[in-house]
Amino acid sequence: MQIQYKPKRNLLQTIFHVEIMQGMALTLKKLFSKPITRQYPDERPEIELGFRGQHALVRDEITGESKCVACMRCVTVCPSRCIYIRFHKDEDSGARVVDSYDIEALRCVYCGFCEEVCPVNALALTEIYEYAAYDRESIFFDQEKLLGNWDRFVEMKGKAMDNYVNPFWRPRGIPEGRLTAAKRLDVPDEWTVEGQVVGSQANVND
Ligand code: SF4
Ligand code: SF4
Repeated sequence: MQIQYKPKRNLLQTIFHVEIMQGMALTLKKLFSKPITRQYPDERPEIELGFRGQHALVRDEITGESKCVACMRCVTVCPSRCIYIRFHKDEDSGARVVDSYDIEALRCVYCGFCEEVCPVNALALTEIYEYAAYDRESIFFDQEKLLGNWDRFVEMKGKAMDNYVNPFWRPRGIPEGRLTAAKRLDVPDEWTVEGQVVGSQANVND
């Protein structure tokens, strides 16, 4: 079988370099058409509902600290194995106390399993999408950075986030009775978009 790499051209096409003319015509056409590029960072994109950006540890409004109870569910479920938690047990109460909480975000695949599985909604994938950095360490989030991300997210939203609800906090297909109290979310109207199974009003049997 003979492979033809170039279409055959006749003498006139060869003399007048038809392909160059076609290329120039396309360039001219694009010069006068509406540009589709965005003048970032002056023009910022609209963030879609359910966007999964940088991780954050939700800051408890009362204590000002992370809500994490070191249950290790996020570590167990993470398919990328990029969450690392160290904890100790309080001698008096026996409760787990987080010593360190780290996420190696460059290995994350943004599946959202970690925030979905968290029984106390301590973890969120925020709408912060800018990851540019000069070194890998900047994208390795320790507990302080994760809490800082939450503060940045609150600032970005420009409103009180006491009633913030993340669409991935509600596990899909699990009946209300089997969810932890924090997962039985009272979801505001703006989250009830088509196809999203979130909130106590959602029909989990669909
Ligand atoms: S979004 Fe998925 S991959 Fe990323 S940290 Fe959470 S569980 Fe792991
Ligand atoms: S699942 Fe939630 S509470 Fe449990 S260790 Fe992860 S962030 Fe902390």
